[in-house]
Amino acid sequence: MKDACGVVGAAFPGSDAALPIYYSLYALQHRGQESAGIAIAHNGVTRSIKGTGIVPWVFKRTDLLSVHGSVGIGHVRYSTSGGSGIENAQPLTVNFGGGTIAIAHNGNLVNSGELRRELEQLGHVFLSDSDTEVIVHLLVKELMRNDIPESIRRLMRCLNGSYSMVIMVNDILVAVRDPLGFKPLCFGKVDSEDGHGYIVASESVAIEVHDGEFIRDVRPGEVLVITGAQMESHQLYTPKNAAHCVFEYVYFARPDSIIDGRLVYDVRLKIGERLAAEHPVEADMVSPVPDSGITSAIGYSKKSGIEYIEALMKNRYVGRTFIMPSDAVRKKAVQLKLNTIKPNIDGRRVILIDDSIVRGNTSRRIVDRVKKAGASEVHVRIGSPPIISPCYLGIDMPTRAELIASHKSIPAVETAIHAETLGYLSVEGLVEATGIPASDLCLGCLTGVYPVEIPGERCALRQLRLEEFDSGE
Ligand code: SF4
Repeated sequence: MKDACGVVGAAFPGSDAALPIYYSLYALQHRGQESAGIAIAHNGVTRSIKGTGIVPWVFKRTDLLSVHGSVGIGHVRYSTSGGSGIENAQPLTVNFGGGTIAIAHNGNLVNSGELRRELEQLGHVFLSDSDTEVIVHLLVKELMRNDIPESIRRLMRCLNGSYSMVIMVNDILVAVRDPLGFKPLCFGKVDSEDGHGYIVASESVAIEVHDGEFIRDVRPGEVLVITGAQMESHQLYTPKNAAHCVFEYVYFARPDSIIDGRLVYDVRLKIGERLAAEHPVEADMVSPVPDSGITSAIGYSKKSGIEYIEALMKNRYVGRTFIMPSDAVRKKAVQLKLNTIKPNIDGRRVILIDDSIVRGNTSRRIVDRVKKAGASEVHVRIGSPPIISPCYLGIDMPTRAELIASHKSIPAVETAIHAETLGYLSVEGLVEATGIPASDLCLGCLTGVYPVEIPGERCALRQLRLEEFDSGE
């Protein structure tokens, strides 16, 4: 399992891009807290600033002001255990015969091992085990022979998996979204004191932070090439169906982002309403597990008529437990992160709304804390169906053996987390809440059926293999 990150690209002719990219990365901080980086092109030279930790630790304002150049890309990253070092921080920058390339990638290739072996047999040397480096080698090979759109077309033909990328080829900004559109990517226009030009980013909040105008999502299979103030769109592959990651709506994205035409907040509200309809229970209060449970708890409260009262308060200066790299850190983080509001809970029957249960340890600790604070009953309601299979497409989830719902029934999970009752949203309920047809969503971790071929897993191919795609042009 590799990263699930945030990417941003900016082309601001006539002004410097470094500071605007920094602000956008701040807006995307929730997508990765382990490292951050910015690469800026100027007069044929690309300069990078990268480091481990959150955005304000990595970049000093004075450093950013000294980096000139109107085109740049940025990245925030979270990693699996062992991979959080500076060597894996992006953007990845390389020099080649035609100049310099820098890449920032969100996603995970499922065929990167195969591609790497083929390249190694041809004499390519790799410095890391990242799939982004595989992409760089393939792209350089193509750029030596073709123009940018044709190079990307040929690159995409080789890649299997999820990738939303921003690429700088010298001072040309390129945005690429895989043909199934797993990971979000959108673009907008900025015309404010921050600069004038285009921003491409994982989420629309990275455009809004500049008072920019969100234009639309980058379509699955589409490539944008931005040269100075000019933007060209190339629909290189036209998918029959998409496979948007449903977990962006459940957990990963910010609720104020618009992803593939849906405001995440609206989807989470509907998740809560649907959860109340599917799993009603008599109780005195509905409380979220903050932050990602908040909007769904409001929806549950609205639908059920049970009062919304917060049982837990979050210390916002502690990172998200789901994206913490080790078990030990994760355990401590729950204690640091969530505190109970005892007078709100004492003697009450509490409905706790959370987005998902992964291993079950965090849920058990939270239920125990709420009971210790005086709750007479704790009923847990989850805004997603049970996670029964791993994600191979860029969300860092544990192995099947560690996923509690993959080997325990729902009553057994209920017992394991010490809840009076447990209710998960149905797959149909979740799909309905997104407003996107199931045939355009990835539900792999919830159904065990994936939209791309993954060795050893069941697959419902959404379309022909990439080699057989009709060109959109
Ligand atoms: S398997 Fe699950 S987490 Fe991974 S991309 Fe699909 S829906 Fe998202």
